[in-house]
Amino acid sequence: MNNGFLPFSFPEIGQEEIDEVVDSLKRGWITTGPKAKQFEQDFASYLGNKVQAITVNSATAGLHLALEAVGIGPGDEVIVPTYTFTSTAEVVRYLGADPVFVDCCKNSLNMDPVALEAAITNKTKAVIPVHFAGLACDMDKIIAIARENNLKIIEDAAHALPTIYNGKLIGTLDTDVTVFSFYANKTMTTAEGGMLVSKDPNIIARAKIMRLHGISRDAFDRYQSQTPAWFYEVVEPGFKYNMPDIAAAIGIHQLKRLDSFQRTREKMANIYNDVFKKLPLILPEKAAENSQHAWHLYPIRLDDSVSISRDDFIIEMSKKNIGCSVHFIPLHKHPVWRDRYNLKPSSFPVAEQAYQNIISIPLYTAMTHNDQLRVIDAIKEILL
Ligand SMILES: *Cc1c(COP(=O)(O)O)cnc(C)c1O
Repeated sequence: MNNGFLPFSFPEIGQEEIDEVVDSLKRGWITTGPKAKQFEQDFASYLGNKVQAITVNSATAGLHLALEAVGIGPGDEVIVPTYTFTSTAEVVRYLGADPVFVDCCKNSLNMDPVALEAAITNKTKAVIPVHFAGLACDMDKIIAIARENNLKIIEDAAHALPTIYNGKLIGTLDTDVTVFSFYANKTMTTAEGGMLVSKDPNIIARAKIMRLHGISRDAFDRYQSQTPAWFYEVVEPGFKYNMPDIAAAIGIHQLKRLDSFQRTREKMANIYNDVFKKLPLILPEKAAENSQHAWHLYPIRLDDSVSISRDDFIIEMSKKNIGCSVHFIPLHKHPVWRDRYNLKPSSFPVAEQAYQNIISIPLYTAMTHNDQLRVIDAIKEILL
């Protein structure tokens, strides 16, 4: 058995991915082209339910385009969970709007619908639920609250591929936009990249234009027959958020393996669940009937009875050559958000408490069974 360093995360890249990237390099079409288009079509048919999908160069870019497309602007408020990555909130600032931070539910660590409802003002225009670790938020409640208050819903689904909520894949619910991430440590990867998904053709059309410099492809296409190929019109000051074919080449094959990746992750999570239920740990919440956890993360929380601190636990794990991480340092604790909005820990008691004791341990398909046993033994040694 290999006792070398076991990283917190490691991508599983197969020969098909490598061959497809080489094909792109040899063809000479390396930026956005046929492979990005194929990846979009494959992704949309994977989700089904008449969704449209467009590739972007990160989920952060996708969230920015999503908020822009639903019309968020200066003076608007957008409700976000504090228990997330800074992307979820920073995109709101890109548009001159203000993020409003809310606490999470005790077990799932997903956005608390009660806190969401309490945070709504007459400036609130949208809400960004985040499906933490790969378990869906209470979307029935969130959708009902959003409808009642005329709010747009943009799902940050960076962890939620493939997550099922009440029989429906995340990406197909009755919300406005869903954004997935293919960053290197996510459940499937393109190195860097993301996918913006919507059933609304107007949102897709707007996001497509803003994705590439505000160039109106529709106008271009319409007049194509009468004008030379070099002609285009810029209709907005857009962004540069397109995904290169070299990245899409990886995504095409990762997507084909996504369901088998999920089954492997779930098997590994079940092994952790079985062993750890005897230890003084709070384990991640499981998916309800008719739902599926994507198991992007496996976060454990040290019980109050445990004497070792979270920080020392991570140091002990690294002494045993095992990488861990913390998801998340709540946004209200980061200077940028804390200082701008004068945020106090007392407003987020659940997130505060979770953050003190939480550790994400390795869970990914490139791990062997022996790697997983190493993690289990290390945790037993530290806690028993
Ligand atoms: C990873 C992550 C993002 C950002 O994804 P990128 O593709 O790196 O931009 C956004 N939100 C959450 C919750 C994430 O974990």
